[in-house]
Amino acid sequence: MRLCRYLCRLRDKRSCSQSRILRPHNWNRSELLFVSSIGLLGTNLESYCEAAERSPHPRCGITALVRTHEGTPSMAALPYVEVLIVGTHSAVEQKALRRRLERKRRVDNDFVIHTVFVRSFEDTLNELRVNANLQAVVIRNGFPLRSQDCRLATSHWGLEGLDAEIEAVPESERGPMLGSLIAQLRPELDRYLVTHDNVEEIAAHTGKTFKRIFFREEDCDELYPSIMRGVAQRYDTPFFFAVRDHAKLPVSNFHALPVSRGKSIRNLNWIGDFGEFYGRDLFSAETSATSGGLDSLLEPVGPLKRAQENAARAFGAKRSFFVTNGTSTTNKIVVQALASPGDVVLIDRNCHKSHHYGLALAGARVEYLDPYPLNDYSIYGGVPLRELKRTLLAYKRAGTLDRVRVLLLTNSTFDGIVYKPEHVMMECLAIAPHLTFLWDEAWFAFAYSHPTYRQRAAMKSAAKLSAMLEDSDYAARYDAFSAEVNVEAWKDDERILNTRLLADPSKARVRVYATQSTHKTLTALRQGSMIHIWDQEFNEKTEEAFNEAYMTHTSTSPSYPILTSLDVARRQVEMEGYRLVKRKLELAMRLREQLSRNPLLKKHFRVLGVDDLVPREYVESNAESCFDENAGWSNFETAWRTDEFALDPTHVTLDISATGISGDTFKHKLMDEHEIQINKTSRNTVLFIVNIGNTRSDVAHLIEVLVKIARETDDKLRDLSTIERGIHDKRVRSLTQEQPPLPNLSAFHPAFRAMNSALGTRDGDIRSAFSLSLDNANCEYLPLTEVEGAIAGGRELVSASLVTPYPPGSPILVWGQLISPAILQYLRALDVREIHGYQPERGLRVFRKKTLTRVLDAQKSSPEHGGGA
Ligand SMILES: *Cc1c(COP(=O)(O)O)cnc(C)c1O
Repeated sequence: MRLCRYLCRLRDKRSCSQSRILRPHNWNRSELLFVSSIGLLGTNLESYCEAAERSPHPRCGITALVRTHEGTPSMAALPYVEVLIVGTHSAVEQKALRRRLERKRRVDNDFVIHTVFVRSFEDTLNELRVNANLQAVVIRNGFPLRSQDCRLATSHWGLEGLDAEIEAVPESERGPMLGSLIAQLRPELDRYLVTHDNVEEIAAHTGKTFKRIFFREEDCDELYPSIMRGVAQRYDTPFFFAVRDHAKLPVSNFHALPVSRGKSIRNLNWIGDFGEFYGRDLFSAETSATSGGLDSLLEPVGPLKRAQENAARAFGAKRSFFVTNGTSTTNKIVVQALASPGDVVLIDRNCHKSHHYGLALAGARVEYLDPYPLNDYSIYGGVPLRELKRTLLAYKRAGTLDRVRVLLLTNSTFDGIVYKPEHVMMECLAIAPHLTFLWDEAWFAFAYSHPTYRQRAAMKSAAKLSAMLEDSDYAARYDAFSAEVNVEAWKDDERILNTRLLADPSKARVRVYATQSTHKTLTALRQGSMIHIWDQEFNEKTEEAFNEAYMTHTSTSPSYPILTSLDVARRQVEMEGYRLVKRKLELAMRLREQLSRNPLLKKHFRVLGVDDLVPREYVESNAESCFDENAGWSNFETAWRTDEFALDPTHVTLDISATGISGDTFKHKLMDEHEIQINKTSRNTVLFIVNIGNTRSDVAHLIEVLVKIARETDDKLRDLSTIERGIHDKRVRSLTQEQPPLPNLSAFHPAFRAMNSALGTRDGDIRSAFSLSLDNANCEYLPLTEVEGAIAGGRELVSASLVTPYPPGSPILVWGQLISPAILQYLRALDVREIHGYQPERGLRVFRKKTLTRVLDAQKSSPEHGGGA
């Protein structure tokens, strides 16, 4: 407890000048660093120390340097860098090397370097997993596979199934092998190799695995500056620095933006409070300048260009673009860039409303795909791969497969259901090798920072797929596959649906786009969003259209604070993304653990596990929950490796039906009575999303509040009269059993439907429906009570509006869609307060009969639809 007290004191006095070396002797290094990096911010230090003392770690002799500047908050403390050194160094060698690296530090350096030594392959993997402070790895070639430390045997990454392969590699080649494994697990770390062998040859065949390769330690004088430069490159935020420097210039502004430098606020009478609230710097950085060290988002050549290149590196893309109006806009940009009028786009009908607007603007024909429904909770899952293949095969049979240009899916969904994009793309490309993919990763920007998540991120999947398609082993596998699955086999749809397909490497092109709301899961200001691209045909086919689309939707006055925040979000991802995602996972697991163990909580709430949210048929791993008392988290990692759909444990859905309170009421109760903010609910569930800013205190607060609500419910139930009890039971029943099923997307009205719909394709022309709906003369309103009667009387009712309950923000009716009784029933049972596109007092906006007749008549006489002469 001595250390704890010491750190608390340090925290209390953080405004004075300090530069101290702490030498605790029974602390795990990562625990200590955890404390030194966040503990000083004043968050939850005592409880952390307590927890650490409960499970002391046997390592010792670790030194950490904690330093804060005079008068500055510790958030700006000198960044601390750990360098992992792999090799069988003797104690003397270690000491010498440590001295050479750590003593090199000069007063004007921006970072504090510290060295950590490990002696084997296994130790390295373990260190990479637990040590979130690493920034670089130096591998001295020639080291054993196994750890001397028997406790590590079960707690490492990546060696599953690799042991034999690694063992077979001579010691002299283990360094490069370890390097490429690190590149997969923690690609953000700089990697250096020190070797006694033929350095030129190794350099020639390891390619990009290492930042530099040194011949023996004799060249290590270069090592220190290389490490420093590597760290500095990732630390560099060109656009943020440019804006900050620009703010220092004494510019007189004779253009727009009087708020620039706060000049229209300061020393004036009426809006000083606004200036005070946001502070001087926000306005000193506001400028409309694009020169003087700054840059233009619409045609970047300077710091914004470099900032976006850095983002591409950090998120594994070939190209990245910043967008300042949220993923609502990024989606429209990409859809417009990829789909021309008449092109068919396959899309999850449950996707965000921005796609539907984007598709209407682009004039695409839309084929809506139905995700699997979870009717008990009114939650949609993902679209099964089988359904995707079935749809593509229908187009193939109809002879219009070449019209299908884009597949658009949400990964992960709001509720944390995550695809395996690599498999999805591989099998879809096997049927449609020209297909382009847009993955809406509004909730998944953080995924690239952690290996378990990364394998399901669009950009990583695209990179893997490209590498695979270029590999000669794959070509051989494909030959064997195509001999077996021959022309005959392709005639049998059922067989194709049941076969894991391989794409033809001579035809398939990898064309993948991801849109991310950086602001939703990383540190960026609201509306900060990015587009990441891995498209082998970008330069050839899309660049022009993409630029036009970008210009269509981008303001000529993009917000600099938002852009700088994107630049900084990227820096954070590269410097400490792994730590933050690891911590958020740990917090989520703690929350799940409490919710499923505490008897009182268990009585009233049920945290939904994998078995509730992903049907059995999509779960190869047999995982039922993210956390299991026996298996711990290993379930989670296995499930994420194998299953068609995985559940992100940081999206915690709680079934609250036993309380008799509906989701929407529960949400307002949390906010109004307990200051807990959530967004998404269904009739009987609420969703908690653990983010990288959450602390253990937040989680403790949430648990405390849930316990309080559980107690209140207990008390209330105890005092109920028989009649009241009956009412309560009925309410619970209505929340658990009487959920109206989620409606499937019915169909488009023939006026907007494709002509070959008889062949099983269902795409519709939402642009003409959208345009017609804008003219009141084409539309009328029908109250819900009349709609049912009209349908029963045989009238085809067609929606002239996008009807979207919010949250979650995905439509249940789109323009041109037939209104079915199931949709009506669902709409009636909804209890959210906002339904965009529907005003209860007016009713549903539908097309008039004569409008539909007019469209059908026009089609009959148009040659394109097979009518006319
Ligand atoms: C939130 C969200 C969007 C829109 O993103 P903004 O950044 O809020 O504009 C798009 N798609 C999905 C799946 C979302 O959840």
